[in-house]
Amino acid sequence: MTVTVRFAPSPTGRLHIGNARAALINRLFATRAGGRFLLRFDDTDTERSSADYEQGIYEDLAWLGIHHDLTDHQSARIRRYEEAAAKLRESGRLYPCYETAEELERKRKRQHARGLPPVYDRAALLLSDAERAAFEAEGRRPHWRFKLDAIVVRFADIICGDTHIDAKSLSDPVLIREDGRFLYTLPSVVDDVDFAISHVIRGADHLTNTGVQIQIFEALGATPPLFAHYSLMQGPDGRPMSKRDGDLYSLEGLRSRGYEPMALNALLARLGTPDPVEPRLTIGELAAAFDLGKFGKSDIRFDPADIDKANAAFLHMLPYEAVVGRLGASGCDLGPLFWETVRPNLAKFGDVSLWAQVVNGPVTPVIGDAAMLIRAAELLPSEPWDGETWGVWAERVKAVSGLKGRSLFMPLRLALTGLDHGPELKNLLPLIGRERASARLRGETR
Ligand code: GLU
Repeated sequence: MTVTVRFAPSPTGRLHIGNARAALINRLFATRAGGRFLLRFDDTDTERSSADYEQGIYEDLAWLGIHHDLTDHQSARIRRYEEAAAKLRESGRLYPCYETAEELERKRKRQHARGLPPVYDRAALLLSDAERAAFEAEGRRPHWRFKLDAIVVRFADIICGDTHIDAKSLSDPVLIREDGRFLYTLPSVVDDVDFAISHVIRGADHLTNTGVQIQIFEALGATPPLFAHYSLMQGPDGRPMSKRDGDLYSLEGLRSRGYEPMALNALLARLGTPDPVEPRLTIGELAAAFDLGKFGKSDIRFDPADIDKANAAFLHMLPYEAVVGRLGASGCDLGPLFWETVRPNLAKFGDVSLWAQVVNGPVTPVIGDAAMLIRAAELLPSEPWDGETWGVWAERVKAVSGLKGRSLFMPLRLALTGLDHGPELKNLLPLIGRERASARLRGETR
């Protein structure tokens, strides 16, 4: 079987981290299986969809490094959906309904009052031709519902296992609105058939849709694809994440706050599995270690601090060759030794400029015991300096000052870097060099 999966955003907003997870899981699954990834724009809602959002989705996916092999715009395929609808009408599975939203609301209230579930009563199926004609004459246009078989739909979900959806407890879904526009349900099925989608991998919020859509696949004479429903991410407050969270979880926001796309990918590839996050340089490497079978059924309480952890872990493993271009572009390419020295101290890549300044200056030293520091400057070994220099020098200063441990290192660090924390002095000192070190120990901004 050729594996073909799809990521199907509606271009009605920018992508957030939950969408990124959907896209990534599908991409990794396809790559791992040597299959294809379809980027499908669910843009039949012409009022809410926009070209700007579509552009934004392309940008967000490009930023993540998630490429697509095929593209589909539902708005360009209306004729196919009309054909499918005609087929369903012919077989009596799609029927016109004339209730207004208010009438439907009244029905629901009555059902509620009687303790009944809010399932559509199929009154429209009982309309006579004359009654329908009368509605049409009033100017009413029908919306169209799919007539569900009153059965329990069963399927073997790759993540959730044996799953059943009782169609008797569901309202016949509206496939076409009274203005003629298609809702999501039917176009999704038609596209899954036409693009030979082998696996529908999506959030558990679509489980009920799957029950309905399997019936539509069958009504159209098609074999349903395989399904995998992964559990959803919830915010720290237990609410599902959504566009409402704005920039907090939008990819645009995460990007502007300096997070690494591959750090996010590493996190999202493992979220919902028992496996630890393992940063990788490429999508291909993440795909090689990807296993859909590891995903669990329970909801995920997402802690935004995990993004910071993943980001730091990713930066800390990045080899110099992978960042040399970025270092150069930010004026911070001080060589491989510099990168390896400061890398463990980075939370965001942008922090590198702080350490470049600590090395190259200007640094305003923080001076405690000025006499001790001047004495320390005099004890600086002559160049060339290397990884041993710090040890030799610290021993000399210790012998002369009688200071040791933190009371020795902290005044030296404060004078040399102007900061009370940072990369190991052993590595930093040769980068700072004798001239600047000596000046700073004497209290000069250099
Ligand atoms: N546009 C739908 C959504 O974003 C796609 C769902 C699906 O994967 O079928 O929820």
